[in-house]
Amino acid sequence: MGVTLFALGGTISVSGGAADERLTGADIAAAVPGLGGLGVPLDVRDVRAVPSGSLTFADVLDVVQAASRAVADGADGIVVTQGTDTLEEAAFLVDLLWRHDAPFVLTGAMRQPAMAGADGPANVLAAVRVAVAPAARGLGALVAFNDEVHAARWTAKSHSTSTAAFVSPNAGPVGHVVEGRVRILARPERRALLPLDTDRTRLAATRVALHCATLDDDGTTHTSLADTHQGLVVAGFGVGHVPAHLAPVLGDLAARMPVVLTSRTGGGSVLSHTYRAPGSETDLLGRGLIDGGMLDPYKARVLLRLLCASGAERTRVAAAFVQHG
Ligand code: GLU
Repeated sequence: MGVTLFALGGTISVSGGAADERLTGADIAAAVPGLGGLGVPLDVRDVRAVPSGSLTFADVLDVVQAASRAVADGADGIVVTQGTDTLEEAAFLVDLLWRHDAPFVLTGAMRQPAMAGADGPANVLAAVRVAVAPAARGLGALVAFNDEVHAARWTAKSHSTSTAAFVSPNAGPVGHVVEGRVRILARPERRALLPLDTDRTRLAATRVALHCATLDDDGTTHTSLADTHQGLVVAGFGVGHVPAHLAPVLGDLAARMPVVLTSRTGGGSVLSHTYRAPGSETDLLGRGLIDGGMLDPYKARVLLRLLCASGAERTRVAAAFVQHG
């Protein structure tokens, strides 16, 4: 019964005191007007209290495992409070692993608790409502923010300060919280999950790089990448293009490790057979790059790192990107 809330730091936990002084999960919950009135028992767990840029895959995996146990013990849903900077990556990672119908809802704040119009309390209230909403079951990981509900696999932080920072560029929110009622408007179908028991030592040793193509990019950062990394995500221009001279460099890398092609634009899909110039999507896919589909570069990197850590070779990686991309 009730909700298990895991607190992982972020703006929602900034106390206004010393830099390393943070509000606890209990402090955060206590500051939410109307939370007690919901009648939802809360089991609050403090995991880490850090800026979200310092969270790791292992932290997220630990929370997913603890959350799985909480659901097995009867929790109706899960809420995670964390910093917004990496929330989209953490949410997508959870979504790839979460095996329960119980909603797993991530939230945070754009304004610190002591600021005028702090948004943390409203976001936590909405997240708890979503976590216990029958309509939100079976949707995997969700992000509740600004009274909107976003599917983890589509959402992204799109603004550095706005309280409406989370958007889902290709799909829009899957739901809204209106007068406290959770309205789910779209139900994205669940896709194949990845194993939760990834070996932690192997995961820590699995490095996946992200390279963003830029104007007049000479590509020298790639020269010895295969010596240090097990995979690469390329954030290409537009529909998945890079400067012509980078195409053979990426092709050589693709012969040594999975290289996934995505778009740096933040919306839409990479294409597969529309342009033919050197450095175009057709050229790059022909050289062995893997089509990242509609996944943005950050999500593609999450998926690729998990796959590489589980020992997936190119064919399995390509198949997973067909599923998730
Ligand atoms: N927005 C930052 C984050 O994502 C907050 C940094 C902090 O909590 O100090 O965590």
